[in-house]
Amino acid sequence: MSTMKETFEKIKALPEAQKALQFIKDDLDLNWKQHQELTLIPAFSRHEEKKAARFKEMCEEIGYKMEDDEVHNIYTTIKGTGNGPTVYMSAHIDTVFPLDTPLAITLKDGKYYCPGIGDDTASLANVLTIMRAFKASGIKLKGDVIIGGNVGEEGLGDLYGMKNFFGKKEHAEGVDGFLSIDGCGPSITYGGTGSYRYKVTFSNCGGHSHGDFGMPNPIHAMGRVISKFADMEVPVEPYTSFSIGVVDGGTSVNSIAVQCSMLVDMRSRDKVELDKVDAMFKKIVAEGVAEENARWDRDREKMRKAPTFKGADEADKVVNVEIEKVGDRPAGQQPIDCDIVQATAECYRVMGFEPRFNASSSVDANVPISMGIPGLAIGGGGSQGNAHSKNEWYAPTDDKAEGTFKLFLLLCGLCGVEGVSEPMLPVRNPK
Ligand SMILES: [Zn+2]
Repeated sequence: MSTMKETFEKIKALPEAQKALQFIKDDLDLNWKQHQELTLIPAFSRHEEKKAARFKEMCEEIGYKMEDDEVHNIYTTIKGTGNGPTVYMSAHIDTVFPLDTPLAITLKDGKYYCPGIGDDTASLANVLTIMRAFKASGIKLKGDVIIGGNVGEEGLGDLYGMKNFFGKKEHAEGVDGFLSIDGCGPSITYGGTGSYRYKVTFSNCGGHSHGDFGMPNPIHAMGRVISKFADMEVPVEPYTSFSIGVVDGGTSVNSIAVQCSMLVDMRSRDKVELDKVDAMFKKIVAEGVAEENARWDRDREKMRKAPTFKGADEADKVVNVEIEKVGDRPAGQQPIDCDIVQATAECYRVMGFEPRFNASSSVDANVPISMGIPGLAIGGGGSQGNAHSKNEWYAPTDDKAEGTFKLFLLLCGLCGVEGVSEPMLPVRNPK
């Protein structure tokens, strides 16, 4: 049995693969033209329709019939010859930039600057190139390749594109591996950091700071919760974290606030730990509010005797709390020696790239990994930097074509090439 390295070298030497590599080199101009056009279409998470529609047209121009699902994930299936795994490759269409962000591409010192140009529009253009290379090469894979662009990867998107895609039974059962092309370079992110995010709102009828003294105070209740939350203990391994990122509220300096709120973020590489933090957090919120409400009970009678005490309806004075979940990204881990990670690393090395491993991040691959489907976030050709900032840049490197070809080669290795190699990725549910 040959090693993964030998197999990739064998596939790389095939006339069809060499044809694909040459095609990708010849395609650099079109790749860059489409990259720029797509970069200039705003696509804030959950508002990707226009960019998705244009990406779909570009795919159709190649001659593929595209699926456009309920949330505008755009994909097609390139059928294999049979008996191989199904590998889904996708780049995300959305960016972190609100729709009114000015978009213009400027060149400085060999780098092209524009919000969203690297993360992840470079990958959308690279996926288009891969789709064209498949047609041009005539290579025959054993497994099926599902390929395209997806929505909802960034912050407020909350992975809704992936949740919709893998929420379908045929994908949950039928996809054997997922490759998210996210950014540029030889990175391999193989674990998904899970996160829950909440908006917690504390409220009552509010009142005068002096005249209504003795009434439970929503801000004091929130303070009690924050104090307990800040003291929580979490493990270092699996790496787990928590934070209150935004606090908001109040009426005036001389008022008991009607309302205040806070945004809470908690993360872990491990779902069990994340759920523990989640349970602790909910208990703490309930305790903090109960303590604030109880704190004034004991002074209530004393307060009533005070000459300035007005007091509202007892029931309206009780601090109420509402917990709203605003983010839910599932966690999942894979061992570094699993097939998909090792195959990708070998593929990179065969192409002369040293893999850069990243144990965990919060990306599209979280969803399949959490379902037990092997998944990665990996980079395509070119280089990029300052992602998520207005100084985001992309640069076409000398090995841009090889960096993109490695994605093509990886699909060949994972799916198996008819008459040449066995698939490196097992079929999870034999049909
Ligand atoms: Zn991204």
